[in-house]
Amino acid sequence: MVSSGERYTYALDENDIPTQWYNVIPDLPEPPPPPLHPGTREPVGPDDLAPLFPVALIEQEVSMQSYIDIPGEVIDVYRLWRPSPLIRARRLEKFLDTPAKIFFKYEGVSPAGSHKPNTAVPQAYYNHAEGVTRLTTETGAGQWGTSLAFATAQYGMECEIWQVRSSYDQKPSRRTMMQVYGATLHPSPSDLTEAGRSVLAEHPDSPGSLGIAISEAVEAAVSRADTRYALGSVLNHVLLHQTVIGEEALRQLGMAEEVPDIIVGCTGGGSNFGGLSFPFLREKLAGKMNPTIRCVEPAACPSLTRGEYRYDFGDAIGMTPLMKMHTLGHGFIPDPIHAGGLRYHGMSPLVSHIHELGLAEAEAIGQLECFTAALTFARTQGIVPAPEPTHALAAAIREANRCKESGESKVILTALCGHGHLDMGAYESFLSGEMTDLDFPEEQLREAMSQVPVMA
Ligand SMILES: *Cc1c(COP(=O)(O)O)cnc(C)c1O
Repeated sequence: MVSSGERYTYALDENDIPTQWYNVIPDLPEPPPPPLHPGTREPVGPDDLAPLFPVALIEQEVSMQSYIDIPGEVIDVYRLWRPSPLIRARRLEKFLDTPAKIFFKYEGVSPAGSHKPNTAVPQAYYNHAEGVTRLTTETGAGQWGTSLAFATAQYGMECEIWQVRSSYDQKPSRRTMMQVYGATLHPSPSDLTEAGRSVLAEHPDSPGSLGIAISEAVEAAVSRADTRYALGSVLNHVLLHQTVIGEEALRQLGMAEEVPDIIVGCTGGGSNFGGLSFPFLREKLAGKMNPTIRCVEPAACPSLTRGEYRYDFGDAIGMTPLMKMHTLGHGFIPDPIHAGGLRYHGMSPLVSHIHELGLAEAEAIGQLECFTAALTFARTQGIVPAPEPTHALAAAIREANRCKESGESKVILTALCGHGHLDMGAYESFLSGEMTDLDFPEEQLREAMSQVPVMA
């Protein structure tokens, strides 16, 4: 048999790496509400943020410039894996027997295995350029810690990471990967900070939480002049850096001579979703295309679909500025679902604002449907997805199945924002039948599982 000759991958050249990040804010009908100081309830100023972030990032956080040049030193590190491929999921389409065309932008090709280095690298770069020699951060599942450890290694900086105790104990491979890149790790709560010591005094066996780890990393950053703090999602400058995903995808879909009808992305703090969709939103606002743009979140942590749009703290303890966002309340502790990157009580204020303006919609999907989609995807397309983007894949499959019924051949675009090679525990739990999901009755699961393809 001869090959079908059908194109699967739309590849750009290294010279096509975007040279600017796109800032969507000036193009919106109104800007998002500002973050407020928790004491005064006045908008936070640059001075409030200076102990935490370098000046360049604070400027980007509030910038009204539409495009921001990417420094050459950042592009030189992006060259290690960018441009990332856009892949047409033809084998998935055939299995689903759908007239829809499914494209995914694959960010798992980065050294850390996810989209997070797209912002870790510029964050490390700007700190280094302003003389900072040490960065602190927190990590839950380990994706962000790995990315920042890799990025700081590029500029010869120190990196100190507070990893939530439960995942520190359960995910030794992630821990080792961060150490391979030269980072120093502490299980959180630790006895190295006031915040950690106060938790340990009351709960010596505390499994920790992202909120506690944030408090420890922030405290460690503000206590030394050579140190700043880095955050992997939620903030405007993080979403800005991620727009390289959408800018590349726009060109690659152009190579395929397609225009998206629907864009779906998983949302934890909103950065891979924003990065993929904002350049397309720009085209939509300019009247050049009209895709539906949809956030997909876990049923166990439904900030956009079930949360309230109001000011709330970014962390669990109440140390950060107040941000206007869709939130389940900063005390909300989601079920320990496997998509650790999506277990956040709030949502990026920018994504929340865009949702509020009616420019993006949202749906929530339970984890059993997501892992069913993940197996379908792995067995047809070969890539084992990280637990987080299985939400986007499940939404894409829902849409493709609707197309099958209606006969429409819609163009569906999503981001496969990470691979799941270090998430086998989640797959084990699914395959052994131990994984639970209140929103997905047993009978429906068996029905769904029977539809997972077994490739001969
Ligand atoms: C961190 C992470 C997420 C969630 O963060 P967003 O800011 O919503 O993108 C999703 N997927 C992967 C693979 C991650 O590492």
